[in-house]
Amino acid sequence: MATAVRAFVGVGANLGDAPATVRAALQALQRLPQSRWVASSSLYRSAPLDAPGPDFVNAVVELRTELGPQALLQHLQAIEQRFGRVRGARNAPRTLDLDLLLYGELCIDEPALTLPHPRAHLRGFVLRPLAELDPQLSLPGLGAIAIWLQRAADQPVHRMAADLE
Ligand code: AMP
Repeated sequence: MATAVRAFVGVGANLGDAPATVRAALQALQRLPQSRWVASSSLYRSAPLDAPGPDFVNAVVELRTELGPQALLQHLQAIEQRFGRVRGARNAPRTLDLDLLLYGELCIDEPALTLPHPRAHLRGFVLRPLAELDPQLSLPGLGAIAIWLQRAADQPVHRMAADLE
């Protein structure tokens, strides 16, 4: 994979068995075409930021991919769709959210694809697992992840012990 780009994908769920959904999504991300799975973070639990409801479970995956950014996003959206409905229910709420957080150093500002992901640097539940994978990471156009992590320090995010997942 000489031309592979380092990409990070955010995984989130808060309906049903959210830890199981996140773990299944991590497996699905290992099977992306033209891509090599590098690492996945621990699972993290956090309360919803602006709404009532069940806790979110989040994780981040690091990939090397030969897919272009739009193609990668399309694959992520196809996985979302596959997980996307509570069985038997029509128009049921989505159970899985996949975000393309970073695609190399690429900066894009379009509604269909904004990179880095427009809210990644503000969300503790993204920053914590991202920093677990690479504490030295620099967010293109935004600077060191450590700085953003400090700014988000008031957002409670708990790393889930493997035996409590
Ligand atoms: P949501 O599922 O609520 O996170 O939003 C999905 C919408 O955001 C889709 O229409 C995507 O095309 C758009 N979008 C823009 N930038 C990104 C990104 N970096 N990752 C995922 N979706 C994105």
